[in-house]
Amino acid sequence: PPSKLPQVGTSIFSVMSQLAQGHGAINLSQGFPDFSCPAELAELVGTYTRNGFNQYAPMTGVAKLRENISRKTELLYSVAPNPETEITITSGATEALFCAIAAVVRPGDEVLVIEPAYDSYVPAILLNGGQPVFIPLSFPDYKIDWNLVKSRITPKTRLLLLNSPHNPTGATLSTEDLASLSEIIRDTNIFLIGDEVYEHMVYDGQLHQSLLRRAELFSRSFIISSFGKTYHATGWKVGYCVAPPALTQEFRKIHQYLTFSTITPVQYALADYLENTEHYLNLPAFYEQKRNLFSHLMVSSRFEIIPSAGTYFQLAHYKDITDEPDVAFAKRLTQEIGVAAIPVSVFYHNQQDNKVLRFCFAKNEATLRQAAEKLCVL
Ligand code: PMP
Ligand code: GLN
Repeated sequence: PPSKLPQVGTSIFSVMSQLAQGHGAINLSQGFPDFSCPAELAELVGTYTRNGFNQYAPMTGVAKLRENISRKTELLYSVAPNPETEITITSGATEALFCAIAAVVRPGDEVLVIEPAYDSYVPAILLNGGQPVFIPLSFPDYKIDWNLVKSRITPKTRLLLLNSPHNPTGATLSTEDLASLSEIIRDTNIFLIGDEVYEHMVYDGQLHQSLLRRAELFSRSFIISSFGKTYHATGWKVGYCVAPPALTQEFRKIHQYLTFSTITPVQYALADYLENTEHYLNLPAFYEQKRNLFSHLMVSSRFEIIPSAGTYFQLAHYKDITDEPDVAFAKRLTQEIGVAAIPVSVFYHNQQDNKVLRFCFAKNEATLRQAAEKLCVL
């Protein structure tokens, strides 16, 4: 039968991680830490597993986890979503993204996608009959041009996807961005998805500008986060979606028949561990130090670092090293130099190549030092 996603191949994250493994390269490509989740959290998962918390969790998620997410949200963004009607636990942010898109996108609807874009967005839009409308970020500061966004809105625009802090660029939304967004969509029925999985990785004293901070934005938003990022446990695939009751109701109709529920013992463990505010309140300082170390080590290389305001990714321009296309360069770097990175062109629908690679700095200091040493020989 003809493919429903003819343009989709194997994700670059699998491709580069496999290539890194095959060549024994330091893997700064796929985003994941090379250090463990907090020991106490791992202990809690073990305890709940041993104590029989191994059957289906409630469809909407374990109550205590939803309650503690609400408390965290209130502490950070001064709004306390209702755990019963506004919070749903999902199997990773990826599932939440699919559910939110499926909940609102109908065949023929247009969905505004800011590029470079995380790779799961477009396939989810297409499978639901939507039409992606791309809005490029300006290069190299990767700011959103709100006039451009406004010019791409039509009567068919159903949804705008925002990702802040932004993968792969590390750009973050400012209060001015939120004000422009409010202004632009005020007289429309456009829904919003806020992919905020890196909400606890915002640097230089800035605050994360969640869509939850503005009532007029939250009233039409699905806000999505992931415990995989926050607790250094990307393999657990536990995330959540915060949305107003009417949107949550539609979201849960999809979630109920896509996965129904999410891994039980991990939810109980996260519920307990979330009461420790210290971990996520310290995360900006923890990662800022890694960002600073990596960019400092790269000063003596011929890569040009593009400042990262958030996420655990660092972009680097390599135009002074070679004019090879970024995919070819990323592969050669893995095979010959022993460091794997992600070519940024794969985040564009037309493979726009600005000669930029993405490095993940969620690594131990020794890993970052070894990688930078190798990159400095180029
Ligand atoms: N959105 C973005 C921007 C991401 O970087 C990721 C993690 N790769 C996800 C969503 C998916 O998160 P999860 O692993 O929880 O499904
Ligand atoms: N979000 C991770 C990244 O951007 C990878 C997720 C995945 O491997 N699908 O690197």
